[in-house]
Amino acid sequence: MVKVRFAPSPTGHLHIGGARTALFNYLFAKKHNGKFLVRIEDTDLVRSSVESERVIINDLKWLGINWDEGIDAGGENGPYRSTERREIYKKYVDKLLEEDKAYYCYCTQEELEEERKRLEEANSDMLGYSGKCSNLTEEQIKKYEAEGRKPTIRLRVPKDQIIEIDDIVRGHVEFDSNGVGDFIIVKSDGIPVYNFAVVVDDYLMGITHVIRAEEHLSNTPRQILIYDALGFKKPQFAHVSLILGHDRTKMSKRHGATWVEQYRDLGYLPEAIVNFLALMGWSPETEEEFFTIDELISQFSLERVSKNPAVFDNEKLNWMNSQYIKNASLERITDMAIPHLKKAGFIGEEVDGETYEWIKKMVKAVKHSLDYVAQITEKVKIFFNDEISPENDETLEVLKGEQVPQLMDALISKVNEADVIDEEFGKSVFKTIGKETGIKGKNLFMPIRVMLTGQMHGPELYDIISVLGKEKIIKRINWIRE
Ligand code: GLU
Repeated sequence: MVKVRFAPSPTGHLHIGGARTALFNYLFAKKHNGKFLVRIEDTDLVRSSVESERVIINDLKWLGINWDEGIDAGGENGPYRSTERREIYKKYVDKLLEEDKAYYCYCTQEELEEERKRLEEANSDMLGYSGKCSNLTEEQIKKYEAEGRKPTIRLRVPKDQIIEIDDIVRGHVEFDSNGVGDFIIVKSDGIPVYNFAVVVDDYLMGITHVIRAEEHLSNTPRQILIYDALGFKKPQFAHVSLILGHDRTKMSKRHGATWVEQYRDLGYLPEAIVNFLALMGWSPETEEEFFTIDELISQFSLERVSKNPAVFDNEKLNWMNSQYIKNASLERITDMAIPHLKKAGFIGEEVDGETYEWIKKMVKAVKHSLDYVAQITEKVKIFFNDEISPENDETLEVLKGEQVPQLMDALISKVNEADVIDEEFGKSVFKTIGKETGIKGKNLFMPIRVMLTGQMHGPELYDIISVLGKEKIIKRINWIRE
């Protein structure tokens, strides 16, 4: 059975690239009726935090990327946090020490630094570490211990070995073991490094495919050496390319929002993000661009994941999100809009039933024009300031039209006569005014639009009328008249 995992380090937010890795794992698992596991790799004690773990878990759930086993979900292979698995790692470290496949290294930072320089100057192909402590005598060990040195543990790496990876995405990749050198698997504080923990965890948790970011490809030879030393069967690897910003440099803060949380706060829909992320590096067999999660599951394959970096096209994401917003229910977008409207001070903290209905009308008026929901505060400005000021010379010109006073009178009288000002009224009032005044088309609509909003573009007029209601319409016309 296929079993894959997402193993975030809780050292920050869930980056959009991390979300894509999680998504690919999820899709692959579901496609093969397999299992998806999430575990927390908090081997970096300094940078890891509980808060970050919480944020990452929340973001995954928000995206609808659910897991069958792991942190928060439980399972028979727990615990699912590296720091809680030290006993387990110790067992395997001890095994390697016993079999002399690993050894204690007592070198200090300074000694290692000196050695690194020496090797570099000698142009040695033994990069980094010469194996200085690999054959210490009992006396030497005693001496170091007596000095109070805290050892690290290094893996004995075979010389002159070619380490091969048949990566599902990248194809055949080779590394020279001499370029790896005996590397640290347990730090001097007794904590195993990521490369060690990940191998033990992936093996014990029954992971069949390791799908992760390309930046981990350089870790893979070390991990393979550990698999071999422990006699573990290796999983298959798939290293997914980086996501680049529009300028083809690695995605970073400079490119705008890069965390899932930021997109959520801006009012992107999780289905849109998922759809968009799926297309970052994976290409479907058809030209189709819109996919539900179920469609993604049935069509996804690692064979169609590209080796080339994916470029994050923000405009495309906005366009895609706008389509999802258009198709989303009015209630959903209204609920998403309310916090933004509150924050902008357009509405108060308490929203009663009547206000909610009114907000809904307002959201309906602008929903089609939103790339993301936070933009609503700009779009609805027109409904809040009754002291309309024409946007520019062009709008001023419109208001100077000969027929404008007649239109103003007609609209005020119709509005006054009406019992309810709603969308229906908004639609029929133009027909009536048109008939009565003989003014048609643009000459009818544009002056009314400008007198009600000060602008020549914006939501449908019937929506504007319905949102503004009787009082505001009259107030605005009277204001502009003076
Ligand atoms: N903890 C690693 C990270 O957050 C993931 C390593 C892996 O997938 O093997 O980048």
